Amino acid sequence: MASSKSNISTNTGLRDTTSDTNDEEKDELCPGFKDVDAFVKYGLGAVLSATKASAALPQTGDEYDFYRSFPGFQEFCESQGDKLLHCMSQIMQHHGCRSHMRDQNKLTGLEERFDLVVDSNDVILERVGILLDEADGVNRSQQPVMPAGFQPPKIVVSSWNRKGTGSGSRSEMFRLLHAKNVARPQLKFKEKVDNSNTPFIPKIFIKPNAIKPLPCYFTNKQIRKQRPEDLDVPAALADFIHQQRTQEHIEDMFAHPYQYELDHLTIPESLLSKPEPQMYKPVAETKCSFIDTLEDLVALNEKLCKLSEFAVDLEHHSYRSFLGLTSLMQVSTREEDFIIDTLELRSEMYILNEAFTDPAIVKVFHGADSDIEWLQRDFGLYVVRLFDTHQASRALNLARHSLDHLLTHFCNVSSDKRYQLADWRIRPLPDEMVQYARTDTHYLLYIYDCVRAQLLDFNHGQPGLLQCVWNKSKDISLKKYVKPIFTEESYLELQRKQKRSFNTQQLTAFRLLFAWRDKLARQEDESTGYILPTHMMIKISEELPKEPQGIIACCNPIPPLVRQQVNELHLLVQQAREMPLLKAEIAAQKKKGLTPIKKPEVTLFGPHDTSRVSESDLHPVSSDELPVKQGMLFSDDEHEMDADVEKTSDLMAAATITLFEEVKTTNNQESLPVAQMKARRILESFENPFRMYLPSSDVHISKNAKFDPSSKIFEISKRWKLQSIEQQQKEMEAKRKVKQEAKEHAKKASEERNKAKQSYQESLQNVATVRQQAAESVKGGAKKRERIASEVGESTPKPSKKLMKSAEKPQKTEPPPQDSFKPFDYSQSDLKVFAGAKSKDNTQFDPNRQAHDFKKKKISKGQKSNPGAGGRSMSFLAGKSDRGFRHNWPKR
Ligand code: AMP
Ligand code: MN
Ligand code: ZN
Repeated sequence: MASSKSNISTNTGLRDTTSDTNDEEKDELCPGFKDVDAFVKYGLGAVLSATKASAALPQTGDEYDFYRSFPGFQEFCESQGDKLLHCMSQIMQHHGCRSHMRDQNKLTGLEERFDLVVDSNDVILERVGILLDEADGVNRSQQPVMPAGFQPPKIVVSSWNRKGTGSGSRSEMFRLLHAKNVARPQLKFKEKVDNSNTPFIPKIFIKPNAIKPLPCYFTNKQIRKQRPEDLDVPAALADFIHQQRTQEHIEDMFAHPYQYELDHLTIPESLLSKPEPQMYKPVAETKCSFIDTLEDLVALNEKLCKLSEFAVDLEHHSYRSFLGLTSLMQVSTREEDFIIDTLELRSEMYILNEAFTDPAIVKVFHGADSDIEWLQRDFGLYVVRLFDTHQASRALNLARHSLDHLLTHFCNVSSDKRYQLADWRIRPLPDEMVQYARTDTHYLLYIYDCVRAQLLDFNHGQPGLLQCVWNKSKDISLKKYVKPIFTEESYLELQRKQKRSFNTQQLTAFRLLFAWRDKLARQEDESTGYILPTHMMIKISEELPKEPQGIIACCNPIPPLVRQQVNELHLLVQQAREMPLLKAEIAAQKKKGLTPIKKPEVTLFGPHDTSRVSESDLHPVSSDELPVKQGMLFSDDEHEMDADVEKTSDLMAAATITLFEEVKTTNNQESLPVAQMKARRILESFENPFRMYLPSSDVHISKNAKFDPSSKIFEISKRWKLQSIEQQQKEMEAKRKVKQEAKEHAKKASEERNKAKQSYQESLQNVATVRQQAAESVKGGAKKRERIASEVGESTPKPSKKLMKSAEKPQKTEPPPQDSFKPFDYSQSDLKVFAGAKSKDNTQFDPNRQAHDFKKKKISKGQKSNPGAGGRSMSFLAGKSDRGFRHNWPKR
């Protein structure tokens, strides 16, 4: 603690003394340092000792409490703490960040202060990144606009990609592992990625090691492929029947396929007894195979099935993909290492389920939380009998829980986590990356032995602690992948995390930009951070540029899609600028010129947030409450005023659309055209299959479906967004009739279902082992999976077309109806612009220049879930934080 303080004060001290530089200091970079290297070296040393010192502080819990009981210690802590806070405040002030670190209540303010530090860190690092970029001469705004695909040569100089921290010699510089023009692996995928705004449904269609068979929804191709359109009945009825059928499978569709097996998993005695650690083979003497053919994969599966344990790790890419791509799988046995090209074998990986779900085979991972999700999402792979060494490290209360640390601690091997964030799509894989990847699993089985032995020793031979690790690991393997879903509120979630205050116009811009980028990201299969990084989105929202050029100016470097769609974006910003400001906002703006206002507690203003709509919004505004347009010449002219009142209330009506629409629909219900009446009936009969994803208070239909532009519900819900309950009752009669008809058809359906069940049972008998099937398909050559699949179901499960159809042809989504409710009208977007853009893999926007974002990520990781993280860190799945849970990267 003390050293970190002195480090900080040295820095601030440096700043203060620069003014009185004398002659001999003139050549120096800054006083006391002759060049950057000297400064960096000193800085790194200071940071290192500070980190060490803080790691050496007594642990919270017993140790700390014990020390705390000494008044001397208490006093010392207090004074050091104060000094520290003071320094931090100073630094934050220097950078223009909010800083009231010191004067806050020590207990209650802790969390807020923590956020404050994280925010300031972000700001400072952002600035550092920009400055570094500029120093590198990569400041985009000063570069001529290049034709798409043209990449000027560029040297990236950065300390973190240099080999060995001390040396600093240029020859030791690593090339940044961002290959330019990496071919999009998605283009080769046999099954297209499903970015539609619908919940994830497991990909599994064969379930090895099953105690409870896989529900027929997954095994029966017919059920999965049923579409309302294919039923030979009137549309409304077809929809109803379809929905009823879907309802039956809802539980199966979203359950963990191995829930039952995992729930009934017991820990055999052998796994609780003390092992004799079996030393790993030296890397140099270990065979390492690169697996990129089905044949080799099948052989590997054969091999794994005979073992009692193996180690697994994954590498992942998330910058140039919406959901992220599992790019590599590393497997180590006691004898061999394997590197599997999971981009190549993506649709064949499922065969490993035979080994992965066999409870007799232990799968050792380190920090498996993400891996478990990625395995499900990309391959339909599940793990039964997981041992997570990260959990073991926690249980052992080791100093740190990173793999790095375990490697040093148990194997005396220093690993190099530099490649963790490399672009793992690169093929052929550079040797350095293969070596890195290998290290992640090579030692893991030995570590598994060591930690088990220690867990037992730790507990005086009692298995309790080890048992606990097994159970924690099991809980991780029970995790289900959840797809990021766009809802009307998603932008608020992100906005809240930014802790920025936006006025009505700014918030509107933020909402529109958020929707634009989400839509585009799904469609183009890019991360939201690639489309438009969050910090740029905030900048545009805050500045509300009047000209397209202004939008460009907010972005450095300019994301390719922003460049292409700048006119579209400009329209969105204009739309936001047309929003009337609240009275308080206008006053604040007047005071501060155009700088964003500090918001009072509840000025968050969403068009559907009626709870926050002020009185003046609901009723015709009295003249003294009227928002006055800035710079209006004749604002006191009565005539003008009247017109304005009308205009304003119109605009406000738009903002409180829910209220007015409700009234409108009630009045117009008799005069609805037949088609609309029909649609409304469907809507009413629609029992939301995704209710589980909704807050219980929601009386409307599925938000997911509503916001999937491809779903009928989306269209319908937009037209009849809010129906009064009264109305619904009136139409109950009509509905009942439809139901009567439906009953007959439902009967038919249940017969069909029984047949399906039967056929499943039959097919079960036909299903040999996965191994046999896979082997067969090897023989079958190119047909591979299709053939295997056709025995039980032709492809990975697809939910009804209604839910998923936008996945493969997002461009063909139905245009939103022209009505008054428009969260955002995409139909006006010129999406053709992207036609050729995809495959070109535009290189103008270079993730290299986000290098500083990595550092930021590393520094603030675990402290704060990074909202729209894709925007900040190229390798971090944007959706993760968007969907609102904190992602705990196991520490490295
Ligand atoms: P690892 O388990 O360390 O091999 O990490 C697996 C993958 O997780 C890497 O390929 C990265 O894509 C991702 N990853 C790990 N740590 C981080 C981090 N701190 N920030 C962003 N992505 C990470
Ligand atoms: Mn991992
Ligand atoms: Zn790894």
